[in-house]
Amino acid sequence: MTDYNSDEQHQIPVIPALEPVEGIDQLLTVSFIFPGEFVHRTNCFLIGDKWAKKLIIDPSPSDADEYQRLVNSLYFFNYSYSDIFITHHHPDHINFAQRLAKDFSIPIMISEDSFQRLLKKFGQDSFENITIKVVHEGEIVTHWNGQEVKVYEIPGHDEGQLALAPESMTWFLVGDLIQGEGLEAGSRASTVVIGTEEGDMSKYFRTLERIIRLNPKYLLPSHGLALESVAPLEKTLKHRKQREQEVLKLFKEGKTPDQMTKELYKLVNKALWPLALENIKAHLKKLEQEGMLN
Ligand SMILES: [Zn+2]
Repeated sequence: MTDYNSDEQHQIPVIPALEPVEGIDQLLTVSFIFPGEFVHRTNCFLIGDKWAKKLIIDPSPSDADEYQRLVNSLYFFNYSYSDIFITHHHPDHINFAQRLAKDFSIPIMISEDSFQRLLKKFGQDSFENITIKVVHEGEIVTHWNGQEVKVYEIPGHDEGQLALAPESMTWFLVGDLIQGEGLEAGSRASTVVIGTEEGDMSKYFRTLERIIRLNPKYLLPSHGLALESVAPLEKTLKHRKQREQEVLKLFKEGKTPDQMTKELYKLVNKALWPLALENIKAHLKKLEQEGMLN
């Protein structure tokens, strides 16, 4: 193991980190994101009571070098670690999770839906010798500031997505429910993709409404900086409702989803159009389920 007390300490590459809320570390890991995406980091949060073991949330380094920097950071903090917690199955949240679980001999906590999707994609062998803890709504997975931290099931962006929050609602760790602002060019867009395969616009609306009602003080998203209050969620919900009405109007005019994308996103970078098309399709699916397209 590396000796962090040596004179060479300053030369050990680590990942830049923030403390968005007292007692929570946010590692800005360069992550494994699909080409064409406009953000390049996924927040790896470390959460736990002061002298207790910490939960490692969504460690997702892009490659072997970033993995090593992440491991260096985990040693550098000098904590003990209880488990890896995966918010959802997307590649920018799970890359190297199995390897980290093996290297640190700790279990992976994940939802049933996300686990099944990963099994389908990578096979049973990829989880050999790893303890999997399937977690559900309401389960206590760690503590923070002396409080229980519980799991919330937040489908919409991804069917199996999980969130975390303490009883006080000081913070709500929301995964890809919404994106934070800042840090990189292009990351100001707060809209996330609701794919029609694993996402669901109706559930996304309900999840937004639920967290707005819970009214946490800070939102901790997987990409970008922490957000204050639920105002960004209210803004997102309002924006999506407006978009839905626009989609409905264009549908009644006989426009196809491709034509809708060109019309509604004409001022947006074309590289984002395939993602915008996904959201339009998700809106159409929701409208169809509600009998609005008859
Ligand atoms: Zn995602």
